[in-house]
Amino acid sequence: MELKAMILGHFLVISLALNAGLLYRDYCNNGKHKSVEFFSFKTECKNESLVTKRDTHVAGRFPFESSSSKVVDGVIDLDHGDPTMYERYWQQMGDKTTVVIPGWKFVSYFSDRRSLCWFLEPELASSIIRLHKLVGNAVTENRYIVVGTGSTQLFQAVLYALSPSNASEPIDVLCAAPFYSSYPLITEFLKSGLYKWGGDAHKFRQNKPYIELVTSPNNPDGLSRQAVVDQDQGMLIHDLAYYWPQYTPISYAADHNIMLFTVSKTTGHAGTRLGWALIKDEEIAKKMTEFIMLSTIGVSKESQLRAAKILQVVSDTHEYRTNQDFREGDSFFEHSYYLMAKRWKQLRNAVNQSKIFSLPHFPSAKCTFNGHTFATQPAFAWLKCEGEIYDCEKFLREHKIWTRSGKHFGDSTKYVRVSVLPRDEEFQQFTDRLRSII
Ligand code: PMP
Repeated sequence: MELKAMILGHFLVISLALNAGLLYRDYCNNGKHKSVEFFSFKTECKNESLVTKRDTHVAGRFPFESSSSKVVDGVIDLDHGDPTMYERYWQQMGDKTTVVIPGWKFVSYFSDRRSLCWFLEPELASSIIRLHKLVGNAVTENRYIVVGTGSTQLFQAVLYALSPSNASEPIDVLCAAPFYSSYPLITEFLKSGLYKWGGDAHKFRQNKPYIELVTSPNNPDGLSRQAVVDQDQGMLIHDLAYYWPQYTPISYAADHNIMLFTVSKTTGHAGTRLGWALIKDEEIAKKMTEFIMLSTIGVSKESQLRAAKILQVVSDTHEYRTNQDFREGDSFFEHSYYLMAKRWKQLRNAVNQSKIFSLPHFPSAKCTFNGHTFATQPAFAWLKCEGEIYDCEKFLREHKIWTRSGKHFGDSTKYVRVSVLPRDEEFQQFTDRLRSII
């Protein structure tokens, strides 16, 4: 019976995937953009046309740039937060993170039947705990770890887990603006009867249950945050995707009820699609596990093993840095901290020279992990067009720089979000071009 249900589930998933592929093709071929866009805000089809051009030069690279074709037709695409900045570091690490998986491995759906999250690979769990202990950015004691296909799946799992099943109306999901542009899209995507997007948390005045997202440091503006609605009936989700020492000083070990992390922003392995949640409450962890079981019957074990290896190597680069295996400059967070510092310096110089733009300023603090005193150097720049420019995205597009308008983040079109994580050459071209805009 159980197997039957599982097989039926599989067919449904496969047929959904195929249909999504066909729909996507029709959607782009017709050239008509739908009003609701998720990942790329009208850039997927934009990228598709670029790929056609790109493919005549570089075969088979889709949809992002290959290392030899960063900028096509002079366009610099910084709309996505694609973390390709990290590629070079991992190339330099050579075979240290190579994982070889024999064919007989991972035949079973299960990883550890006794564990609450039965599809979580024990090796990944221990590498997550080891890394948090090393960095000191989150408490792992007395927590359940739930693994997800990216923290995007965990976000959906946690909404499902927190929503009361017997409520007369969907619960509001809030986040202070500017908020991560995918939150409203994911929340509204399936028109759930359990939850709905409630908008900017600053504007929430009702006396009823709600879920508030706290993203710290925040995507898009990089600020450190706390909950803004202070009511008894609230439930908090802390999205700590960027609470790592290359982006912000670690000031305390986060101890919240629900904390989300992802390798996408920790090590740059967005393509591995792997996130994890640290959960205090057993019932919430169980419901999240149930959600993932019903949506994907677990999480790819190949991805988990690869992520485990990468996280272990990150810890090794710090703990064994005097070994002959690793050199001083190999320490992952040290290396990426200096890279981010260099990029922010370069970006601020360009912005100061152009006189058209401005950037947020962040307070400095001492990082308990690396000992540096520094101001947050976020993965995104929340760039403002000053003066008479009211649509900053459009303005930059005229200069062939693709960014994401502030309106997608619940804020003004005078702002855009710009990725600070592209490859070196692209970032250099971006700052050069910004500097030249007078
Ligand atoms: N949360 C935040 C704040 C993010 O910026 C992102 C990625 N842009 C995610 C979650 C999603 O991460 P993942 O790739 O693990 O799905």
